[in-house]
Parts: sequence; structure tokens; C-alpha cells
Amino acid sequence: MTLPEMTVFSELESNVRGYCRSWPTVFDTASGSWLRDETGREYLDFFAGAGALNYGHNHPVLKTALLDYIARDGITHGLDMSTTAKRELLETLRDKLLRPRGLDYKVQFPGPTGANAVEAALKLARKVTGRTEILNFTNAFHGMTLGALSVTGNAAKRAGAGVPLQHATSMPFDGYLSGAEDESFEWMERVLDDTSSGLDSPAAVIVETVQGEGGVNLAGVEWLRKLSALCSAREILLIVDDVQMGCGRTGPFFSFEIAGITPDIVTLSKSIGGYGLPMALVLFKPELDVWAPGEHNGTFRGNNPAFVTATAALNHFWSDDSLEIATLAKGERIERALAGMIADNEGLSARGRGLVQGVVFDDASLASKVCAAAFQRGLLVETAGPEDEVVKLLPPLTISDADLDHGLEVLAASMDVVCGGGC
Ligand SMILES: *Cc1c(COP(=O)(O)O)cnc(C)c1O
Repeated sequence: MTLPEMTVFSELESNVRGYCRSWPTVFDTASGSWLRDETGREYLDFFAGAGALNYGHNHPVLKTALLDYIARDGITHGLDMSTTAKRELLETLRDKLLRPRGLDYKVQFPGPTGANAVEAALKLARKVTGRTEILNFTNAFHGMTLGALSVTGNAAKRAGAGVPLQHATSMPFDGYLSGAEDESFEWMERVLDDTSSGLDSPAAVIVETVQGEGGVNLAGVEWLRKLSALCSAREILLIVDDVQMGCGRTGPFFSFEIAGITPDIVTLSKSIGGYGLPMALVLFKPELDVWAPGEHNGTFRGNNPAFVTATAALNHFWSDDSLEIATLAKGERIERALAGMIADNEGLSARGRGLVQGVVFDDASLASKVCAAAFQRGLLVETAGPEDEVVKLLPPLTISDADLDHGLEVLAASMDVVCGGGC
């Protein structure tokens, strides 16, 4: 049955709509970790805009910066013109993010989506190396445009392209073969070094340190180090797609920091704007900056209100390591709770890093049912993985311990009702 207040969505909005089907209500306002629908019902957010709302909804510090900027008629749309807001962002990126981490990167403003940042990264890698092939990983997700889809795993999403997706070869992600780190890695090493493997020398490898959409699959620290060494030994560029796992999701600002590696190219989007405003960045080593002016163009590269909230977020959350420490502590809090939930269930396991955590169901159909039951109880949480077999927990990093515990209780109750004591 369609409620009258829902009809325009089902009648007018394209079938392509997705999340609104899992969460059939009309959301109206939100603050912090909570959304409210039109009836005033509240929902705790364990989804955080798929990672675009790491600092929660409408954070007061970011909101004030945005309102002040709008009130003084600050530039809203700026193409890639130099603006005050952009200068402040670049200086803050340099002083708060890059220099303290010893990272020497140039900053590119692509179009404001993660997919566009990935397109730019792939183009740049090809231009720098003069090679066409890219290595990606099983279960990877890099976005829905053609280049980004060509390095994405999911068959249904790939099929949407309607044209052959070329010039990319999928390699086994950490643990893909038997759960053993070395086997997946040995395959990649072997085919790269065997001139008869049929693999053309690649321009770049693109990797997520934790595959979010792919099912919360973790690349181990050692695996990442070996991947980085393998790339630099063969002059293959290493692209870390930190669109979802960056901006503190796994603890440190950049998800690759735990491995002590320095990727050649890094993509950021989702939470970099801080407030959920569209923005993306491509960071790369200075010697890779072979772009001609305007070679990767776009009308909305200068979303100045997002620059303002991005700057405010960097200053507010990343002037010290308190957010990183809090994120790791909250991640452990979730891990302890999940360990309890899966303890007596053969068909369940859990994995994650920082504030991206997943519950994996052997019976894939149960995961969606748990999410539906959670929605009924006022919790937004989504599935991930090739069969949607993983319930993926992605709360705002700013969530309180009390809200976190509440959400975990709702999740446990939802699992109980779906699994009836055994999943
Ligand atoms: C979401 C995501 C993208 C795509 O970002 P869009 O803004 O949806 O285009 C790319 N890479 C990763 C890892 C993502 O999670």
C-alpha cells in the first residue's frame, strides 16, 4: 500500500531510486546521529550517508561556518577560480592534514563526486605512465561512471554500463582465495612478473583498504605494505580510493596510515566536505602533476560552501588526535557487542576496523531482513557485500556511547526476531 504522502515518489521518481525502498518513510530533519520523519518519528543513523556524514547531521560548528559564509554573500559557485574559501581550505589541508603526516601531495579539485575523483585518478595514472591497463580487486567498488565501473567488481552494477568495460583486470583482494593473505598476493606477483601470463604492464593499481560496499573486507597491514612495495618496485602507480574509508572512518584521517605507506594517488569525497555537501579531492605526488590546464574539467569543482565546511571540519576535528582515539574506542565497543551477538550462532561472523563494522550472515537473505527489522525499530542500517550478506554498521564518528549502545541493542533485538535465537 502506498501512503498518499509517498505517491509522488513512486509515480514520478525513476525506478532507479534505491535507499528509499529500504526505508519507506519521508525524512524531514536531522541532527547529530538522528533523523526525523514527517510524523516526528526518530531514527538512529548507523548509515551516515554511506560515509558522507562522518561528523553527523548538521553539526553545529559546521552549520555556523556555513550560515556565516552564506550570510556574507560568500561565493557559492566558483568553477576553479581562486576564492577566499578555497585558499583557506588549501592552507588548512596543508597545515592540518598533509604536513603533520609528512605527505607531499598536490591537490586537484575534480567534479564533486567520488566517481569523478576516481575517473581523474585513472586518467592521470594513464597519462603519467603512457600505459592503459589498471589492476583492481575482487569486490571493489569505485563508483558508477564508466572508468570507475571498469574497476568495480559487482556484476549487476557493471552490466548497467551497457558497453564493454575495458582495460582493467581484477586481482584477488586480501583473503579472497582461502583467507590466507599470501596466496592472493602471490597470484598478483606471479602474473605481473611472468611475461607469458597474458597481463599487460599496468599503469596503476587501485585499492580500498577496507572494501565498504564490497562487504567490509579488510586489507591487512602487511598486505598493504607488500602491495605498496610491489607497485614501487615495478613503477606501477598505487591509487588508494579513500572515498569511504578516509576522513577518519577507520580511525586515522587516511585509512592507509596504519600501514605507513604513501600512495602515489589518493581519492577523497563523501565526508571531505564535512557537512554532506558535495566535494571531492584527488591528491598525488608532485612529480605526477602532468595535467594540462583544464584537461580534467567540470562545472561544479568549485562548491565553495563545501570548502567552508571542509575547512571548519578539518580545524574542529583534526587539530589533534582526539577523534582518531575516540573512533578506535567506539570501534572496539562495537566489536565487543558484536562478539556477544554472534557468540552462539554458527552462521554469523563479524569483522571491521574503527567505525566500519560488519556482521556477516552465512544465509545471505537474513541480512536484509535484519535491516528491515531494525528500520521497524527506528535504526537505519544497510547491507553490503556481493550477496548483500553483510549488515554494515557505519555510524557517525561523533555518535555518543549511549546512542551507540542503543543502536547495538536494537540491532541485537532485530537479529533475535529474524533469527529466532539461531542464524
Ligand atoms: C561511494 C564510493 C565511490 C563513489 O562515490 P560517488 O560520490 O557515489 O560517486 C567511490 N569509491 C568508493 C570507495 C566509494 O565508497
